[in-house]
Formats: sequence, structure tokens, C-alpha cells
Amino acid sequence: MIIAGWGNNNIIRSDIFYPKNEQEIIEILEKLNNEGIITRGLGRSYGDMSLYKNILSLERYKKIFELDEKTGILRCSSNLSIVEIIEKIVNKGWFLNVTPGSKYVTIGGAIANDVHGKNHHKDGSFSEYVEEIKIITPDGKINICSNKSEYDLFKATCGGAGLTGVIVSAKLKLLKIKSKNLDVTIFKTKSIDETLKKFRELNENKYLVAWLDTINKKNFGKAVIFSGDHSEDNDLNLKLKKSFNLPSFIGNLFMNNFFMSIFNKLYFLKHQNNFKVKQDIDTFFYPLDRVLNWNKFYGKKGFTQIQILIKDEDKYKEILFKIFDFFTEKNIYSYLTTLKEYGQGNNNYLSFAEKGLSVTLDIPLKNGFLIIYEEFENILLNQNVKIYLAKDSFMSKAFFHKSYNKINEFINFKKKIDPSSKFKSIQSQRLGL
Ligand SMILES: Cc1cc2nc3c(=O)[nH]c(=O)nc-3n(C[C@H](O)[C@H](O)[C@H](O)COP(=O)(O)OP(=O)(O)OC[C@H]3O[C@@H](n4cnc5c(N)ncnc54)[C@H](O)[C@@H]3O)c2cc1C
Repeated sequence: MIIAGWGNNNIIRSDIFYPKNEQEIIEILEKLNNEGIITRGLGRSYGDMSLYKNILSLERYKKIFELDEKTGILRCSSNLSIVEIIEKIVNKGWFLNVTPGSKYVTIGGAIANDVHGKNHHKDGSFSEYVEEIKIITPDGKINICSNKSEYDLFKATCGGAGLTGVIVSAKLKLLKIKSKNLDVTIFKTKSIDETLKKFRELNENKYLVAWLDTINKKNFGKAVIFSGDHSEDNDLNLKLKKSFNLPSFIGNLFMNNFFMSIFNKLYFLKHQNNFKVKQDIDTFFYPLDRVLNWNKFYGKKGFTQIQILIKDEDKYKEILFKIFDFFTEKNIYSYLTTLKEYGQGNNNYLSFAEKGLSVTLDIPLKNGFLIIYEEFENILLNQNVKIYLAKDSFMSKAFFHKSYNKINEFINFKKKIDPSSKFKSIQSQRLGL
């Protein structure tokens, strides 16, 4: 089957295995010998982390959903997507403690990237709410790990890019809510200084994220900031909006620097400062999911998202300027840029989110981008920054090893549980994992 990551920038042919139960997973692993395989969820990671010549998909695995409505503990199979879960839990007064910006993500994928949401500064990452993971490790054994037992396996699996085995199910701690709605306030800022200052002022809000205009040169870093918290209006009747596909010629017409610069101006103008609005969970958390195939709008070469975490607070502005000056000089623009400040990190070996400022850039790809990326990495090499694996397509092994400070712990643990490297992806080979 022909397959790609969400950025469509590396399209490969893979053999896909569809086990229906634990025994079939074990048999697949036994038969593989040393060929190598990677598990794939819904393919929402942007690059090559769920790509390899052999892929294991849990699409046909039985779906488990067992909610204890009193405690909010959900036991579910890892192939359930966030949309399948919220369809069942919101009307019962529960929500996920942490959600990424797409509802088309599986629980397996959310654990393997230890994803974060707009509330990281308050509530941390996804794994903080994972009570237990059931995983089939490369030796074919079924293990239960948590922060109380088999903690090394837990720390390597949460954020471990699918390299420690096949997660089959998990127990999650849910968040009690009184409404399907959020009380949202929207702010507008006119410069990067004002944006960073506003972030600090709004830090007590549960959810906080900024959209940045980085195409138009005037007032670099002007932003629309969204802050919010769950409403208390006792309306739990969530109706999810239908997602749809749009013809790809729309992408060809509009995805260019000229149109995107106009779009950014209009988007900024459309919002009013200090504007209060009620938005339901679907609108607030998953705005991009309305158009199912928006990733195809970037054309045949696809696109990449680079998500950079700047760890030194006194360098936020300097490094942001370095990043955007570099690309602007090359006439390369980010069509969608977001900014978010994170709180404390956790003990997992490869989790991304930790104290710092995260910026995401969505960049359409042209021939020769790899050379530009290498140059880009060089300007960041001596800075205290890291790049998110879930979005990565191009990072070098040297950069990765320098920027993830628990990398040796991960590699030593992986060697112990997977000496013949059964679990591998194109990304893990590139990064020497
Ligand atoms: C529009 C959009 C918005 C996003 N917003 C955010 C965000 O706000 N925060 C954030 O952190 N991320 C975000 N992401 C990234 C996304 O949450 C992650 O890439 C997530 O891991 C994708 O899950 P998936 O089911 O599609 O997994 P895939 O992309 O298929 O796989 C991702 C990784 O998970 C592993 N994996 C999947 N299932 C299993 C399993 N059962 N057992 C073991 N390993 C497994 C794969 O091997 C791979 O390494 C966003 C992505 C999109 C497209």
C-alpha cells in the first residue's frame, strides 16, 4: 500500500499487517525475525515516524470502551480515536485532561508522542493522565506498565515514538466537566513584545494559545490570542460538526505566499480585541479538522511542520527573530504559525513538552528544502532548543542527540528490550534510535 505521514512529504510503499487480537500481534512479531516494523495509528504525525516497509495497524483490532462513570477512569483499546471517545464521554460530563489539536488521533498515537494541548502550562502532557498501559513488547510478552510498576517501560513508551512495542490498551483518567462549551476570550496584540507580555498576564487561564502572523513584515509577531476554560452552564449536549473534503484545486489556487499574506491580514482583522464568546469543544480544540484533506492543499511535494521549543526565557525573542529572519531571507514563509508557553516537563525519556516557548511553522516544500533545513539547523545548533518528533521530517541525528537530554537512557533501555531492533521507523533510523 502507498502511504505517507500527514505532511505528504515522504510517500512510500509498505506491507500493512492488520492483527485482530493480541495473539495475532505476537505471531506477527515472531514471524518478522529482524526485518523491522512500526505501529501506525491514524497517520496524523507529520513526518516519517509511523512509516516503515512493514506497518502494523490496529484498525481491525476489537474496540474496547469501558467507562467508570463515577470515577472517570476509562479503559480503552489504543485504536480508539479521540473523536470516538468524546462522542461517548462529553454527554456524561467527562472530557480528556489533555487533547492535541486534532480529534483524528488514536490513543496509541497520543501516548507514543505524549501529546500536549493548549493547557500544558497548567496540566502537563497526556501521560500525566495515563494510569496504566498494556503493551506487547518486542519479545512478544504482554506487559502492564504505569508510574507505579514497570516504570522504565512506561517512561520509554510515553513519548517513545512507537519503538518499545505495540500499545494495545490503556487506562485514562478523565476530566470532570459541566458543559460542552468553553468560555473563550480573544485578544489581539500588535507586536511580539506585546504577545509575550500578554501570555504572561493570561498564564492563569486553563487554555492559552496564540496564532501569529509571520508573513506580513509590519509588526512582526502580532497575534490573535485565545484563552479559555470550561463553561459551567450545564449544557452537555455536544453535537460534533461533520468534517468534509474539499477539491484539491482550492489548495493550488490559494496556497501561495501572496494569498496567504492576504489571508493572514484578513484573519487578524476578523477578530476583535477583548472579545468574549462561547465555543463548543469541537470548535475550540479542533478547528482544522473541519476540512479533512487540508493537508493535500500543499500540492504534490507536501509540507512540513517544524515545532521548536525555546527553553531559555531570556532568549525567546532573539531566537524567534533568528528563525523567521532565516526563512524570510530565503523567501520561505510559514502559512500557519502558533505560539504556546509550556509548563514543567516530566520524567519520560523522549517527551517533547517542557518549560519553554513553543513555536510551530507550517512550510510548503520545494525542491532543495533539505539543504535549507540543514542550514537552518546550524543556526539553532548552539541554542537551548529542541524539535518535536511528532512533526519532524528532516532533523539530523547530531541535532537530535544534542537536544534531547535523556536520549542515552532511552537508547540503553531500547537495547535491553529490543536488542535486534524489531521496532523501527524511517524516522528512528534517521535519528539513530
Ligand atoms: C491538525 C493537527 C493538530 C495537532 N495538534 C497537536 C497538538 O496540539 N499537540 C501535540 O502534541 N500533537 C499534535 N498533533 C500531532 C498528533 O497529535 C500526533 O502526531 C499523534 O501521535 C498522532 O496520532 P496518530 O494516531 O495519528 O498516530 P500516527 O501518526 O499513526 O503515529 C504516531 C506515532 O505513534 C506510534 N503509535 C501509534 N499507535 C501506536 C500503538 N498502538 N502502539 C505503539 N505506538 C503507536 C507510531 O508508531 C508513531 O511513532 C497534531 C496533528 C495534527 C494533524
